[in-house]
Amino acid sequence: MSELLYTVDKECPLCQATFPVTKVRSKLQMIKQDGDFCTYYKELNPNYYVVWVCPHCGYAAQDTYFYELSPAAEMKLKQFLHGREVNLNLSGVRTREQGMAAFKLAIFYAEMIAAPPSRLAGLYLKLAWLYREAEQAEEEKILLNKARANYEQATLKERFPIGNMTEITVDYLIGELYRRTGNYDQALSYLGKVVSNPRAKLERRILDMAKEAWHDAREQRKKANAGE
Ligand SMILES: [Zn+2]
Repeated sequence: MSELLYTVDKECPLCQATFPVTKVRSKLQMIKQDGDFCTYYKELNPNYYVVWVCPHCGYAAQDTYFYELSPAAEMKLKQFLHGREVNLNLSGVRTREQGMAAFKLAIFYAEMIAAPPSRLAGLYLKLAWLYREAEQAEEEKILLNKARANYEQATLKERFPIGNMTEITVDYLIGELYRRTGNYDQALSYLGKVVSNPRAKLERRILDMAKEAWHDAREQRKKANAGE
């Protein structure tokens, strides 16, 4: 295993078995970041390892929420997993495909237990980034749309900060996801909201990104309309 990875033992909250989880050391060298916060590192893609998967019962969830299960969610998952054969071991070094498989499992369970929309949004977004890396634009777009729809739900149902994002950051991200999926009117509406928000001055970096995305969206809309 690469020296950037290490293993810790975790106990599964559903079946209580112990299994090894592969983690990434936080010493990666960042190369660049896309407008929707997809970050590229020199050494490896840490998103391959974000989802933990229990090889004994099949439960999977994002590392940060792995143990956050309500009694009702726990019961639902236990009922679903009871008596199933699990032949999936995603321990150790993961390929991109294995990273994708882990996200798909986590999304499946998160939807089953009706997890907060912000969590689903985060899973869809990170899976979309893996498809971006694989240059599978169609799949990426479908997932970006799902992420965006869930972030919109989150702004209605959840309190800020959402994840670690302020309202301004979430509005910016929704606008950027609309732009990336070709919905320029909606993109301009969200990005315009950020640019004209007086509080955005306190989040200089987001404000600058929103301005840039707003200009891009306007140009892209012009081009799209000219091509009709
Ligand atoms: Zn388990």
